[in-house]
Amino acid sequence: MSRVPRPSTAFTTVDFDRSGKQSGFVMIPHSPHDDAWGVTRIPIAVIKNGEGPTVIMEGGNHGDEYEGPITIAELIRDLDPGRIQGRLILMPSNNVHAAIAGQRTSPVDGLNFNRTFPGDPRGTITQQISAFVSDRIFPLGDAFLDLHSGGSSLDIIPSAIVEPSQDAALHKKNIAAVQAFGAPMTVVIANMGDPRTATAEAVAQGLITVGTEMAGGGTVSIDALRICRKGVRNVLVHLGVLPPEDASPSEGDATVLELPGANAYVFAGMDGVFEPFHKNGEKVSAGQPAGRVHCLWDPSRPPETLHYQADGILYGRRQPGRVRPGNCCLVVASLYAGTL
Ligand code: CA
Repeated sequence: MSRVPRPSTAFTTVDFDRSGKQSGFVMIPHSPHDDAWGVTRIPIAVIKNGEGPTVIMEGGNHGDEYEGPITIAELIRDLDPGRIQGRLILMPSNNVHAAIAGQRTSPVDGLNFNRTFPGDPRGTITQQISAFVSDRIFPLGDAFLDLHSGGSSLDIIPSAIVEPSQDAALHKKNIAAVQAFGAPMTVVIANMGDPRTATAEAVAQGLITVGTEMAGGGTVSIDALRICRKGVRNVLVHLGVLPPEDASPSEGDATVLELPGANAYVFAGMDGVFEPFHKNGEKVSAGQPAGRVHCLWDPSRPPETLHYQADGILYGRRQPGRVRPGNCCLVVASLYAGTL
């Protein structure tokens, strides 16, 4: 269900009801030391034509994940409004301070945008952005695409992501839209049931929701960018916003995987340097040695051997070698056990 908008000082420079293409900003009054009455500007574009659904696209939820923001910015510059039926609300760089810094989290308030939903219109800047998206953007939408990559610390197999829904009919629609993306893999990710993510909030508001994870490592992957560009158009064709001839063949099959809760993750237990035993995409099994943590500054200390806790494939791998206890070194995706 849509939220009733809470009082907020935020405003926009775009008119959501106007046809054609507009590019502007969500303006959130922000009063730091050097700018008493200034604003934080979050880029937003509206492309509207004819009759059809409203599709919201978000990039830059984390500021060090680039394939989504590049793809959305290209749509803003290049898409002819006459080609669509419906409305696109395009937000390529939502956690804008993090994007400018090239960091996962906002340097302004230290928050991870994707753990702040539904936000707080009287909170910090990051909380005010998520409140604006929750209260003012999601209620306009029929569908939501949240384009993530692995970020600086992870490399993830390019994949389209299903956010689980308790509503069986919506869950079915979400899986169909995610499979339409045509990524090499479809993965159900519940984030341990955390409701504070953008996709969890979108699903709670009843939007057809598609996520992605596109490589990572804090860089731009050539393959992942190709998959992202095609996938976004494929979903827009699936939703009836773009014509059928704009679709591209899928790069995957119909297999659906999931992260099997806490057992998906392999964490470091020791301070040191992580040595992986497998590459992304390799088959692994519960109990199998997954890698070692070496204490290079005390060679007399034996390495710690880490083990997988689930059967499946290696889906994601930590990028920096240096690890501390609790760091996520590996992520396993298993065959989806739920209903399709
Ligand atoms: Ca992310």
